[in-house]
Amino acid sequence: MAAKVRRKQLPRFGRVDSFPRTRGPLMLQASFSNYHRFAPSRLRMKIDVLAVAAHPDDVELCCAGTLMMEKDHGKKIGVVDLTRGELGTRGSAELRDREATVAANIMQLDVRENLGMPDGFFKNDEQHQRQLIRAIRKYRPEIVLASSLADRHPDHGRAGHLISDACFLSGLQKIETVDIDGMLQLQWRPRYVFHYIQDRYFQPSFVYDVTRVFDRKLEAIRAYSSQFFSREYDRDEPQTYISTPEFLNSIIGRHQMFGKMIGVAYAEGFISEKMIGVQNFDSFVQLDT
Ligand SMILES: [Zn+2]
Repeated sequence: MAAKVRRKQLPRFGRVDSFPRTRGPLMLQASFSNYHRFAPSRLRMKIDVLAVAAHPDDVELCCAGTLMMEKDHGKKIGVVDLTRGELGTRGSAELRDREATVAANIMQLDVRENLGMPDGFFKNDEQHQRQLIRAIRKYRPEIVLASSLADRHPDHGRAGHLISDACFLSGLQKIETVDIDGMLQLQWRPRYVFHYIQDRYFQPSFVYDVTRVFDRKLEAIRAYSSQFFSREYDRDEPQTYISTPEFLNSIIGRHQMFGKMIGVAYAEGFISEKMIGVQNFDSFVQLDT
């Protein structure tokens, strides 16, 4: 109950109207005796690509371009932020909420939800896994974009493991969870979890060409004027590791470096814990490198 009270639900950005693609008839997923306990309206919240992050702004920095490209390809996209970033040196949780809303509109997210976990102190334990499992079962993504498994900020690595574990456990039928109305949720396991690369460099398993949407990605990052360099943000607050112009330049350089690997201007990098299988070569970037 405490978790329910703490949860902060940000405004939704449009409706998710498509009926869910399930992995077979619903009757095969739910036992007949308790089928009536699944609310049909709750089955309509289907997101194809869901990015999960420790803090509002992580997604913008690391995988916003991929989300926007998928949206351009007709997919439903969403973000679940684990915390409100309330321990950030600059700004406040309320200001961060507003910045996240602006960024969500720039990215044209179909949904953005904040789970209200404690910044700096959430754990990869049963309580937090169950909280995230509820969100995964609510949105039923095919692909989850997750925090790095290790990084400068310890929240990022911990989030990476929490997200991986919750995605797996979410597929186990005997772990029962209920939605906000107390209705039983169906189990759901995303097909792939891809970890985006954050501050510390890791060799990606693959990179995604985001050249076409890179300007909008920068716009989404700059929506966090309390966190990153901005001439408009003139409060008397200390500089941080991420608030200097050099930090933003390093972000652009990282994307150029990933882009160069495949012969494009800008790309985002991802690590897959499991083998990626392909069924055709059509989506490969066909440039000389
Ligand atoms: Zn972060």
